[in-house]
Amino acid sequence: MTQTYKTVWANCLKIIKDNLGPENEQVYKTWFEPIVPIQLEGNVLTIRVPSQFFYEWLEEHFIDLLKHTIRLQLGPNGMLKYSILMDTSIAETPITTNIPSTGRQATFNRAKDVPLVIKSDDQNQELPNPFIYAGITKIRINSQLNANYTLENFVEGDCNRLARAAGFAVAENPGRTSFNPLLLHGGVGLGKTHLAHAIGIKAKEKDPDKSVLYVTSEQFLQQYVDAVKNRNTNDFVHFYEMIDFLILDDIQFWATKGIHTQEAFFHIFNYLHQKNRQIIITSDKAPSELGTLEPRLLSRLKWGLAADLGTPDVETRIAILKQKLANDGIEMPQDVIEYIAYNINTNVRELEGALISLIAQSSLNHRQITLDLAKQMIDKFVKSTTREITIDYIQKVVCDYFKLPIESIQSPTRKREIVQARQLTMYFAKKMTKSSLAIIGLQCGNKDHATVLHACKTVANLNETDKQFHYWVDELEKKFRE
Ligand code: ADP
Ligand code: MG
Repeated sequence: MTQTYKTVWANCLKIIKDNLGPENEQVYKTWFEPIVPIQLEGNVLTIRVPSQFFYEWLEEHFIDLLKHTIRLQLGPNGMLKYSILMDTSIAETPITTNIPSTGRQATFNRAKDVPLVIKSDDQNQELPNPFIYAGITKIRINSQLNANYTLENFVEGDCNRLARAAGFAVAENPGRTSFNPLLLHGGVGLGKTHLAHAIGIKAKEKDPDKSVLYVTSEQFLQQYVDAVKNRNTNDFVHFYEMIDFLILDDIQFWATKGIHTQEAFFHIFNYLHQKNRQIIITSDKAPSELGTLEPRLLSRLKWGLAADLGTPDVETRIAILKQKLANDGIEMPQDVIEYIAYNINTNVRELEGALISLIAQSSLNHRQITLDLAKQMIDKFVKSTTREITIDYIQKVVCDYFKLPIESIQSPTRKREIVQARQLTMYFAKKMTKSSLAIIGLQCGNKDHATVLHACKTVANLNETDKQFHYWVDELEKKFRE
């Protein structure tokens, strides 16, 4: 019978435990239980350890025991190879496009850079311990956390008290509270992304060896689609299974698409959850409104705690404005702050937008920030703010306009009126959102990017040459501005 890495390591653990004896149970728990076997190649067993420090400690204190054990299991040439999961930086500035490297890149490219790899028949005198240095793989993960989004500058109010407290508890004790997953939900611009980053940052501060990863549902979907295309879904899944603390932002993005992505995530979720790793998910819809999500996944979301973020009341809005001003070292009269807080009551993003516009106005025109200036500006601002436009929203407006059911855009039909509605949707999505052609195609009936490009050109052409079409584009544009 051939041995698997799991059985080899399980046998090793037995021997180690025996050798350490019951009086050293704590030692065993601390230094051996966290080790995860990952592969057996010939006589080299690869194990994953949580950090560089951990590896050094093993090397310093348990080298003889490990050597003895491995040789008992794998023969006199038995060797160990370490894989160290390393989490590197927290971004200084918001990162929107960087997609974390997949397991494949991280594992295999890194291994080449590692200077310590030597082969068993080529032992290098300079290395202190050839037995251990069969190889080390360091897997670096960029957390994709935005250092500006901290818990300290997330202002507390009635609207977010539960979510903030739950977030705090999770950061203190990841994976060990009943808030797993922690689902943060609430409308656009109410602080879900900020809070999710803040919890990740706190968890990382507490335990820098933890691998924390922030990813948007859109990025996750794109990575999965790429992995399928490149036939490395195993690496993809493996990469995510190594994460200790996973933050998935905007899961409502999957509500009408990505069924296979959802399945992949479902399995990753189960794995992480079972290993007591922390999962945070955000959504701009409540679980009850996410009915189109894959049912098994939806049921998982209800396992932990769903905490909602509401619209801040006026006191909280004032506190948020003051906090932003203090952060930027800007002074503003109290009546101006109050005027903004009373008049912008939709969400925090718009509140911030109004503040920034006012500051810009005053500094560009060398005018003092007065109540009058604020009034002029806010009046304009309130009128001109449009809601955040998503592809879903564009689909809805276009379908409503042509009185078509919204599903028709997703359907493969080639009926002329539907093709036109689909093309218009793609055209506006390209124009009004930041989504890539690939994502737009995916959302409009699973088309590829070339189809989207073609649609955009067709609409642009018809808009110039066809009166009827021009009228539609015009009317729809008005609707988006309403
Ligand atoms: P969402 O993800 O819910 O759409 P964001 O987290 O992106 O919202 O928040 C929008 C903006 O509002 C961000 O700049 C964020 O820093 C700010 N914000 C939201 N809630 C708060 C809060 N309670 N205190 C301070 N800033 C906040
Ligand atoms: Mg967000």
